[in-house]
Amino acid sequence: MNLETSHKKDELLEMLWRLHEFYELTMPAFQAHDPTGVYQGYLKEFASNGVLRVEGEQIVLTTEGLEMARGLVRRHRLAERLIVDVLGKRPEETERSACEFEHILAPELVEAICTLLGHPRFCPHGIPIPEGSCCLESRKSVESAVIPLTHLAKGQKGRIVFLNTHDNTRLQRLLHIGLVPGTWVTMLQHYPALVIVIENSQIAIETSIGEEIRVVPGEPIRSGGYDGIS
Ligand SMILES: [Zn+2]
Ligand SMILES: [Zn+2]
Repeated sequence: MNLETSHKKDELLEMLWRLHEFYELTMPAFQAHDPTGVYQGYLKEFASNGVLRVEGEQIVLTTEGLEMARGLVRRHRLAERLIVDVLGKRPEETERSACEFEHILAPELVEAICTLLGHPRFCPHGIPIPEGSCCLESRKSVESAVIPLTHLAKGQKGRIVFLNTHDNTRLQRLLHIGLVPGTWVTMLQHYPALVIVIENSQIAIETSIGEEIRVVPGEPIRSGGYDGIS
């Protein structure tokens, strides 16, 4: 198979994935995205190779087809991240190079790049990057390290890593009182009210709010800061 054919097939797979992801994977939708019929032949070939099935108007990617398309899209969007985050290009400059990258990246490299980039969830255009096994692994280990603030023992310190709230008003309030990611907190008491120390001052917060604040237990690296519990 020559290079151009293989690129065309990859492009078609990506197009099918996008339809599957955002729109609907039907013949009319496919034809609307392939007005000149460039991919028609490849679609037939995919059908005969077990990459997909055509059922009436529906196009159904087989398990194998889904896996192939997902992998391609993952490589493409990770390449975009790499180009933007590491090479400092603007998102609109990524398209050509990302398309080239995705064909040449070996699977082992994909995992390494994903890890290097911190397992990004979204491409620079804000579209989700399909997860790889490296992402699932890292999430498992991160999840065990990150705990709700309320799980800190009395006297234990932790660094705020994120605020797990979807309530915007509440989020603003937390930020306003200084509960921002990166801040060290010390647990003073759990009951009757949750009392913590940040930046030398004691504050009481509702337990439900404490549940939404996620921390990594530990000690600040620099000594000589506040000593809120002595
Ligand atoms: Zn993108
Ligand atoms: Zn990953």
